[in-house]
Amino acid sequence: MPLHPAVAELEKMVLDKESYRRWLEEWVRYSWRWAVSEKYRLVFRVQAAALRAMREFLDSRGFVEVLPPIIGPVTDPGIRGARQASIDFYGVEYKVMSSAILYKQYMARALGKIYFVSPNIRLEPPESIYTGRHLVEFYQLDLEMYGATYIEAMDLAEDLVIYVIRYVRDVYGKELEEKLGRQLYDFERPFKRYTHREAVELANKLGCRNSPWEELAWECEKLLSAQHTSPFFVYDFPKGARGFYDREDPERPGVLRDFDLLYPEGFGEAISGAEREYEPERLVERIRQGGEDPAKYQWFLQMAKELYPLQTAGFGIGVERLTRYLCGLRAVWEARPYPKVASIVGGP
Ligand code: AMP
Ligand code: MG
Repeated sequence: MPLHPAVAELEKMVLDKESYRRWLEEWVRYSWRWAVSEKYRLVFRVQAAALRAMREFLDSRGFVEVLPPIIGPVTDPGIRGARQASIDFYGVEYKVMSSAILYKQYMARALGKIYFVSPNIRLEPPESIYTGRHLVEFYQLDLEMYGATYIEAMDLAEDLVIYVIRYVRDVYGKELEEKLGRQLYDFERPFKRYTHREAVELANKLGCRNSPWEELAWECEKLLSAQHTSPFFVYDFPKGARGFYDREDPERPGVLRDFDLLYPEGFGEAISGAEREYEPERLVERIRQGGEDPAKYQWFLQMAKELYPLQTAGFGIGVERLTRYLCGLRAVWEARPYPKVASIVGGP
């Protein structure tokens, strides 16, 4: 399996769960010790360059940067086993954004194409410390386009990722090779696109069992990623795998008009995106199917009615995962100055 050496190193580290955990506790609690070293000074400069590149690219395509919300009465419920964080907002429970997905659409309606660099909190399960891909506090560059399809969002994701990698290679390519042993390749469009069903078949063939009705399991995702040398898409996820806001294809019930982009070399998921459900009755039904009370989403449902048809598509790209990929790091806890990981307390 052609895993990147840093991903393979993480695999080795987590074999002994107890000693890995003790090691990670130190890493998190004394993060100033490594953050000031030459290696991480480069990592944080690369991260800044990646953000600069994404802004430059999106601005040139007519996007407008918007300030993201930090708290609200509701936040993204589709967060795969993580819990939301709450705060007491004058006697009412508000949520800290797990993602600001519900808050993108009306600004896309206002401005056409928007993005924000959005801080997210997800109380991920304790076992997520072993994946290398999960922080509790992380940033997403989240964008949304009014009147776009998910195919257009995939095309844009392709161009964005190619642009960022090229930019970082131009500015830091030599230093990345010299200091981190990271070689970045220049990718070409189009990236391979698998339907979820095809991706599941491929994973099953490689020995990773995954139901065609379920989200790709972390292990299967990593295996698929390791089989590729270029980023690739998985699209048309089954309903139930995702949040209520991913639009169900009216012609293909049970199939969502959504996608993920995966990095190669075992780094795994980079992006999740979709067309949005916008029929008010469908939204209510989908919220109920997800086991939630539509009353919770009062403002969102009212907005969907008043701005009907609020037809948008977009995606979010995790900034720390992008940095991990660009620098060839073992895990996202190396791609953040003040890493917060599940169940480890103390430190900055
Ligand atoms: P999601 O809506 O769960 O697909 O999240 C959007 C993007 O944010 C993902 O594609 C990842 O790149 C990133 N992301 C999600 N959860 C985390 C996490 N716990 N830690 C770091 N990055 C994350
Ligand atoms: Mg996702």
